[in-house]
Amino acid sequence: MRFFRPGFLAGLYPEAKFRIKTTEKILYLTFDDGPDPQSTPFLLEILKKHSIRVLFFCIGENAEEHPELINQILNDSHEIGNHTYNHADGWRTNSVKYIDDVIRASKSTSSLIFRPPFGRIRPKQYRILKRQFLIVFWDLMAYDFDSTFNAENSLNLLKTKIRPGSIIVLHDTSSSTARFLLDEFLTFATEQGFRFEMMSQTLQSREAGGGSYARNNAASVKTFSNQ
Ligand SMILES: [Zn+2]
Repeated sequence: MRFFRPGFLAGLYPEAKFRIKTTEKILYLTFDDGPDPQSTPFLLEILKKHSIRVLFFCIGENAEEHPELINQILNDSHEIGNHTYNHADGWRTNSVKYIDDVIRASKSTSSLIFRPPFGRIRPKQYRILKRQFLIVFWDLMAYDFDSTFNAENSLNLLKTKIRPGSIIVLHDTSSSTARFLLDEFLTFATEQGFRFEMMSQTLQSREAGGGSYARNNAASVKTFSNQ
């Protein structure tokens, strides 16, 4: 079964972001699991064409392997998030190991924004990580990584399910279909009156949501390591 929206998870992690509260037609695009030499540069070109800035949740190991792609992402004014060092599954990893994996990744992704791989994080891991990181899940999962769910299905899903404040997950991996659908999706969404923003832009400019984000930004990694 496929779950396009995270549903009940939102209630378990009240301080995490699943969707940004707004009535405006704003979308937040995120890419997970890269950077990848085949996919990332291709997607960056499309994003540049549409003048859209996004958030890449990079795996630490990939980031270390491809520092040139990290630079390219940052040079294009996108944002980088932490997606653990080895794509750790929080449910299957003990908490000490899991936190270590996130800290290790934070060295190469230099980030204060974190997304748990698979959306799986135990309450204890969440409690520790939220002191340092803004934790971001998603509102809409397009299944672009799923080879049995083709690009057309993913595109239709996006076209019909986007709503104000949606945080959308796609993937910059070699097997993802994101590169086949991104251009058309961005054209569609823009024609529908949506615009894209980077999450930090919105959160920092808002007092309500920005409070905890700003505090997270001020927290030091040293403090976190001592937890
Ligand atoms: Zn992932």
